[in-house]
Amino acid sequence: MTKEDFLKSLKINNVSYTDEMIEKAFLVMKETLEANKKFNLTAIKNEEEFLEKMILDSIIPFNDVDFENKSILDFGTGAGFPGLMIKIFYPNAKVTLLDATKKKCDYLSEVSKKLNIDVNVINARGEEASKTYYESFDYVTARAVAELSELMELTCQLIKVNGILISLKGSKGYKELENAKGAMKTLNLKLMKIKEDMLPITKEERVNLFFKKTDHIQKKYPRDYNVIIKKHL
Ligand code: SAH
Repeated sequence: MTKEDFLKSLKINNVSYTDEMIEKAFLVMKETLEANKKFNLTAIKNEEEFLEKMILDSIIPFNDVDFENKSILDFGTGAGFPGLMIKIFYPNAKVTLLDATKKKCDYLSEVSKKLNIDVNVINARGEEASKTYYESFDYVTARAVAELSELMELTCQLIKVNGILISLKGSKGYKELENAKGAMKTLNLKLMKIKEDMLPITKEERVNLFFKKTDHIQKKYPRDYNVIIKKHL
């Protein structure tokens, strides 16, 4: 999509923005595409596609969320999506980017310093960081990280009681939701909202799922990763 189409989509979707936010988002795009030449950071390699599938797709899901002064963990952030965009469009949010891959985390620390974006970067497997960051976040976001019931278990101890898990899914979202009923029950996650969106150019469907953690969770969760993926809750 063109820059013009991108700005139009922000307006249509009621996203308020300043010139500085747009400038920063574009700088992140340039840096990511540049770094992509050196190592595989994202699958998307050109600006038009990047604007729609990385940037717009990292903002629209949250257009009715109030991130102001809230703590947000972007779990499995990769090259910083959606986390970096959340920080750019909600400058008062306290954003933490977490990824298991060191190379990606090194890149994120570098780019955020360069662009003067104040985020916290953690290089760890999220489930293993559950003790250190126990119930630390008002929101946990995740895009393209794990199947929904697995994601719930991986993130469950990181979310505060009454905090929200936001899982950004495509058309498989409903099926995964159906398969996550057991995990929701065991992990005290209540479905709050399903937000359907559509990307304006490619018309790709988005099923964004919002869950509230209603209570503390038994300490035996999350189980070891191998068990999580073999025996879904
Ligand atoms: N959210 C980004 C990246 C998706 S790729 C985007 O939408 O573009 C998935 C990323 O999740 C990878 O970078 C991988 O290293 C990370 N990841 C997967 N499982 C993880 C775990 N258990 N803990 C931390 N990071 C994880």
